[in-house]
Amino acid sequence: MRAIVVGTGAGGATAARELASNGFEVIILEAGKPFKPFRRLLPLVEPSRRIGLLMDERIITRLFPPMDTTRSANDLVLMRGITTGGSTVLSCGNMVRAEHGLKEIGLDLTPEFDEIERNIGITEFPRRRWRPTTKKMFEAAEQLGLGPKATPKAVNSSKCISCGLCETGCSTGARWDSRAFLDDAVHAGAVLHTSSPVEKVLIENGEVKGVVIKSRTIKADIVILAAGGIGTAQILKASGLPAKDNLWADIVLTLGGVLKGANQLKEPPMVWYTKHEDYILSPYLDILSHWFHKPWRNVSIEDRVGLMVKLADIEEGSVFANGKVQKSIKDEDHIRLEKAIGEAKKIMELAGVSGPYIKGMHNGGHLGGTVPLKAEDVDSMKPSWLPEGLWVADLSLAPRSQGLPTILLTAALALKVSRKITEKI
Ligand SMILES: Cc1cc2nc3c(=O)[nH]c(=O)nc-3n(C[C@H](O)[C@H](O)[C@H](O)COP(=O)(O)OP(=O)(O)OC[C@H]3O[C@@H](n4cnc5c(N)ncnc54)[C@H](O)[C@@H]3O)c2cc1C
Repeated sequence: MRAIVVGTGAGGATAARELASNGFEVIILEAGKPFKPFRRLLPLVEPSRRIGLLMDERIITRLFPPMDTTRSANDLVLMRGITTGGSTVLSCGNMVRAEHGLKEIGLDLTPEFDEIERNIGITEFPRRRWRPTTKKMFEAAEQLGLGPKATPKAVNSSKCISCGLCETGCSTGARWDSRAFLDDAVHAGAVLHTSSPVEKVLIENGEVKGVVIKSRTIKADIVILAAGGIGTAQILKASGLPAKDNLWADIVLTLGGVLKGANQLKEPPMVWYTKHEDYILSPYLDILSHWFHKPWRNVSIEDRVGLMVKLADIEEGSVFANGKVQKSIKDEDHIRLEKAIGEAKKIMELAGVSGPYIKGMHNGGHLGGTVPLKAEDVDSMKPSWLPEGLWVADLSLAPRSQGLPTILLTAALALKVSRKITEKI
């Protein structure tokens, strides 16, 4: 039984590993090239920033192609990884169970979460290595009754050099990413093709027969799309199939303050977080805003302090067959962001971080919701409108935005989908 898995991120790598170790002949098609961290980013970019040469975020993609950025509206940048490991190679290594909207459709992923957490190995980052300002903000959040907790992380602290640049790739291999699962899949016999962007799915008489890539057909008995919330929707639409206009992104907005010599970049991002109904707050020096957001330009990287809001946004946004994305920040999102930013400011003030407090750029990198599961799909883990033999195993399946890290959720969904495939076939 030949299976094609499209994409190697949190979903694709998990699905490929599970299917390959269960006797499937697995072909993995990845649009990007093999990932390499961008070690020289800071020395290269900081001087350009100082003389005002960094015009906008598209420069990052030019310097560092694995980090794909798209403006889905004037004021919203979406980010994803196009490379082996997908967006997980750009992640901060935060590993939290995100389950919004699952109970409502009767989906319990507890066994899958348990198994993946055991596989990855998750711990908090040692508190003695938190920056003093980060500790002070943690204490301030405690005093304000916000119940901060150390973030569960897939970071091996003995290998971590506290460069703060998880999002440009971990240069020491301290932070887990889905290439670990991809390696397992290849070890179990899967064949990986990089620089292989799938254009569409081949369907004959209502059944999937393979995929089209660079105008060439690759045949298979089943196809598993795991190209992420944007990639999967694009392939579906290019194949004449629908995808839902429910794209969500977990919008990030970082409040920037100032503290001389804080050196917040000398620790991994987001070592603690406070959890609220539809957002989290977490210490975070937002490098995107540091480099490209004009109002942040007057403060050096050593003196900048950031506290992030990550909001579960309204699930509304469209992906088109040509890859264009339309998604704006809704009024309701703005109102909830303002409230959360107010909390962030209180924490910073109490921790002795001074103003001016300036908001960063709105961005989002948790891309889901374009093939949302409904209650009636949970038994099969396959939306009923997908043709026979076509499956989805990525964050597209998650119906609700989370405002929380989404790797565990994606991997758990993909594991459950893969087990349904194995059961069925
Ligand atoms: C900067 C950043 C930081 C993040 N930090 C965290 C964190 O700390 N913790 C956390 O839990 N989550 C984090 N996330 C979110 C998390 O990485 C994603 O939610 C998760 O990886 C989604 O998995 P996925 O499989 O749906 O998509 P992805 O991981 O994005 O994988 C999609 C894959 O499909 C490939 N692809 C796309 N189109 C095609 C095509 N046409 N043909 C073939 N291949 C294709 C891509 O190259 C990629 O390999 C972060 C995201 C970003 C962008």
